[in-house]
This record gives sequence, C-alpha cells and structure tokens, in this order.
Amino acid sequence: MRTDPNIEDFAGSNNPVVRKFNEYLDSHGMRRTTERYAILNRVMNINGHFTIEELQQMIDSEGFRVSRSTVYNTVELLIDAKMLRRHVFEGMQAQYERITMAHTHLICTTCGKVKEVRDPNFAAFMNARRFNAFNTDHYSLYVYGTCSTCARKSKRTKVADDKKEKRR
Ligand SMILES: [Zn+2]
Ligand SMILES: [Zn+2]
Repeated sequence: MRTDPNIEDFAGSNNPVVRKFNEYLDSHGMRRTTERYAILNRVMNINGHFTIEELQQMIDSEGFRVSRSTVYNTVELLIDAKMLRRHVFEGMQAQYERITMAHTHLICTTCGKVKEVRDPNFAAFMNARRFNAFNTDHYSLYVYGTCSTCARKSKRTKVADDKKEKRR
C-alpha cells in the first residue's frame, strides 16, 4: 500500500463527508485506515453508478493496492453510514451510488444501460405521501423498458428480417 500524502490530507480534512465517515468509524470502534480513506476519496469523485469491480479498477489505476475484500467491506460500511446506496437491478450485478437527490432509474432490459432522471412531480408526490404506521427514509424507483438505441437496433433487425421473409 502506497501512502499518498493527498489521502492523509483528505482523511484529516474538514470536508463534511470525511467528518461523517470519521464519526461513523469512531462510534463503531473502527480504525481510520488509509485504505478506507482512499476508497472513500475515490467513491466521492464518482458521479453515477459503479460496480465493486469498476471501483477496484479505478483504485488500482491510481496505484493503490487494496484487496477486493477491503473494497467490498468499506463499501458495506459506507452503506451502513448512509453515504452510499446499493441498487440491484433485475438480472444485473449490484451497483452502488452516492446518496444524493432522489431520482428515477430508467433501465434498459436489452443492453442494461441505466439512465437517471429527475422528476420533480414524482418527487413532490412522494415527499407528500404518508404511509400508515411507516416512516419513509428514502425511496427508489426503477422503470424497466428499452432505450432508444436498442429500440432503433431492433427496428432495423426487424426490417431486415421482414425483407428476408418477402424474398422467400
Ligand atoms: Zn438499451
Ligand atoms: Zn442512481
């Protein structure tokens, strides 16, 4: 494990995210290790979704040596600390993202691409929605369908197939 002075700075910084993680580690009696901060630092610079594998690759490419289990365990800690969220979209590997503003996920069932959209009307509806004997913490909306790229492709193959049919 290379000790990066930037990570030392990051771990000691007054960044609210770092402070939150410090508090979490302290209150759980866990050590403030360089590995954990290297992972947090990487995660905080990712916009959108990532898999454990992708996160590991990014960390590797920065020259850090962190084992897969450390990456996995730190991601679990960040989920428990309510800093990350896990999504399991149908038929796909688990994906993670930072907890930010609520958004809707549009998932293409053909290519697996996930698009995020903000929907103020839906958010307003959900924020006003009260459930009986239940306190809402957060919500997640997954919309499954076909992206425009895949729709175009399938249209093209369909036209080609139809032509073949006619020639027969
Ligand atoms: Zn698609
Ligand atoms: Zn998302």
